[in-house]
Amino acid sequence: MKYVGAHVSASGGVFNAPINARNIGAKAFALFVKNQRQWRVKDLETKVIDRWFKELEETGIQAKHILPHDSYLINLGHPEEEKREKSLDGFLHEIERCEILKLDRLNFHPGSHLRKITEDECLDRIALSLNQAIDATKDVKLVIENTAGQGSNLGYKFEHLAHIIDKVEDKSRIGVCIDTCHMFTAGYDIRTREAYDKTWKEFDEVVGRQYLMGMHLNDSKPELGSRVDRHDSLGVGKIGWDAFKFIMNDDRMDDIPMVLETIDEEIWPEEIQALYNLVEK
Ligand SMILES: [Zn+2]
Ligand SMILES: [Zn+2]
Repeated sequence: MKYVGAHVSASGGVFNAPINARNIGAKAFALFVKNQRQWRVKDLETKVIDRWFKELEETGIQAKHILPHDSYLINLGHPEEEKREKSLDGFLHEIERCEILKLDRLNFHPGSHLRKITEDECLDRIALSLNQAIDATKDVKLVIENTAGQGSNLGYKFEHLAHIIDKVEDKSRIGVCIDTCHMFTAGYDIRTREAYDKTWKEFDEVVGRQYLMGMHLNDSKPELGSRVDRHDSLGVGKIGWDAFKFIMNDDRMDDIPMVLETIDEEIWPEEIQALYNLVEK
């Protein structure tokens, strides 16, 4: 079974995310568990938490089909120790909020070397941060997102994800989220059956399919291998519908949250329906 939704707004309170998900016919969703432009925010109030559980129950969506996204301020591989620690602190704050909301996974971007350290050094720092985060918390799975490789962002090669996972001690706490736009602009083609199978075979071999715990379904404005991160509506960009048809019929993606981050929120209900229509009976 496939569980498709979108990254919905939680503004006005986290309980608005399930309401917004229900309004677009989503079976999965992503949200920011706090204002993504602030390091720390005040604790969730009891009445907000209660309403979250009430609204969530109305949707019938299970925790494993929700993929919270961390703040863009966080850089777990920051070359400066003080700033890495500040990021780790912000990351822990987000994990704690996931625990309170009974969410079982947290999606994050790996980190950036800011051209001050090597890629390998940065990947090691990310793994260090993850080991520290895992030690300090109980059971939220930390889900590394692949990136387009824009600027000095790491995570654009499957080898980067594998490097981080290799250095994490408790691998039961680690997962991977693949964003189709990032994958494509990082140079992994998925537009034809042949290219799709080759790319995912490489994923299975280098990373391991058991780690796949979420997908971001986006078309891409930039070309294959451009290393530029700009999403497009499905079927409109450079990837096209075939790749999404392959995904909707690939059992690697069963039972995980698949989330649209496409640019036109107005058409999310139609995009979700169009994806389900691609499932071959
Ligand atoms: Zn994404
Ligand atoms: Zn992106």
